[in-house]
Amino acid sequence: MDYTREKTPPIREERLGACMAFGGSCCDISRQSKKGCLFNNNRKFSQSQGCQLTLSLAILNTIRDSVIIVHSPIGCGANLVAQAGVSKGFQKLRDPNAFGLRWINTNLDEVDVINGGEEKLRSAILYADREYRPSAIIVMNSCVPALIGDDIDTLIEELQKQVSARIVPVHCEGFKTKIQATAYDAVYHGILRTLVGVGEDEEEPIIIDELEELKRKYRISRTVNVLNVSSMSRPDEENLVKLLSALDLNVRILPCYAHPDDFADSFEAALNVSICATHDDYFVEHMKSKYQIPFILRTIPIGIANTNKWLLDIAGFFGIEEQARKLIDSEMRELNIALAPYREFLKGKTAFLGGGEIRIITTAELLHSLGMEILGLRGFHFDRYGEGLLEELMEEIPESERAIINIGTGQPFEQANLLEKYQPDVFVGHPGGNGWANKQGIPVFPLFGQAYEYMGYVGVYEVARRLTRILKNTSYSRNLVKHARLPYRQDWYSEDPFAYINQDAAL
Ligand code: SF4
Repeated sequence: MDYTREKTPPIREERLGACMAFGGSCCDISRQSKKGCLFNNNRKFSQSQGCQLTLSLAILNTIRDSVIIVHSPIGCGANLVAQAGVSKGFQKLRDPNAFGLRWINTNLDEVDVINGGEEKLRSAILYADREYRPSAIIVMNSCVPALIGDDIDTLIEELQKQVSARIVPVHCEGFKTKIQATAYDAVYHGILRTLVGVGEDEEEPIIIDELEELKRKYRISRTVNVLNVSSMSRPDEENLVKLLSALDLNVRILPCYAHPDDFADSFEAALNVSICATHDDYFVEHMKSKYQIPFILRTIPIGIANTNKWLLDIAGFFGIEEQARKLIDSEMRELNIALAPYREFLKGKTAFLGGGEIRIITTAELLHSLGMEILGLRGFHFDRYGEGLLEELMEEIPESERAIINIGTGQPFEQANLLEKYQPDVFVGHPGGNGWANKQGIPVFPLFGQAYEYMGYVGVYEVARRLTRILKNTSYSRNLVKHARLPYRQDWYSEDPFAYINQDAAL
């Protein structure tokens, strides 16, 4: 595929036929997904919806030495306020001289809606370049300029000749899609068009040192781009680098917390390895069609089985499976001994999971490997990548076919109904929805955290250790439920949790 000739990427409803509403069993969704008609599902009532501009910021506010310009009324991206210190702290883990988040809003008002907002954007870009001298200026287009017809791409083309920073347009207007993960495509679209391969058209230097050139080619042949996600921690990255270094591979980590210059030669790699298909399929497909770099997109290295698959897939590409198996055996010997006391405590405990499709399915496998029972899953959306992973989960753990699955971004009323009915010992969820579960008296364990380890074999141990700690003392949620309540009427809890999902078209 190649959408990068276009100014804007397609939305995921069109590109992947992604599903944003479903309620039923894992077996049902798998069957219906294979029929290819899940994308027809919708809701008669929607309580809340995610905006792709907000999710785009999750990646973009990590990019070092850049300035973000949110071209919008003042409210869009206001959640950046909460990210300011966090972003700086995590950037500094990668580069002690990092500046942290620098952010400008064009503050479009009623007059701009009539007269257009291009002049404000022009001033903001010139100001950002003059004041901060960043390596990149990232322009995020929101609903209002898209609706009034601001031509940000022509303006950026003109200004690019006047400023030294690379200007990266990101078309992430919230109104365009109900699949919030379209944000990842919007971000990668901007990066692919403006940062990847910058300078590759320049004249090739004359090679005078053939040995150096051979060394460079060898290094590229052993280099993998590991595509991280902003929700993972620096220790998670270090764990994965350690595993791949043990297989004698060089690792380049992109896109989160990278410097804009890091993308320029990102095509000098033997393989692109995704951490999460929801996040990366747009990027790796384009890198394959433009630079012929193969990719691995199957799973995220969370849990024992999925870390094994992730490693063996990479090793298979380089023909070093035997080396990878030895590494896995030695890691497993140590891990199984360390997990023994936690497995004893967690055996038979029940869990309900909510979050991104890839993360919840793999975390379900992790919890099952600790002896826990999975009662249900809530995914933000569902597409072919979730379908493949769910298929593998049901093959490996046949009882998961009966587990309930609900698809929907937001919709906390559906989550509340499900948790009231299932009463799991723990809700493992996205931090955005965990407060709701806590108010129902259910202990929560965050599905991810930028300060904790979740990935690789160390991640399995850390999840087991922290989960045990949370479940040994549940007094916080037991006390909270005495003083807080959710805003729903009691009779909602006796109704069908999927009463407002219209999925007849898929049956
Ligand atoms: S939906 Fe549109 S107006 Fe609302 S925050 Fe997102 S970009 Fe801004």
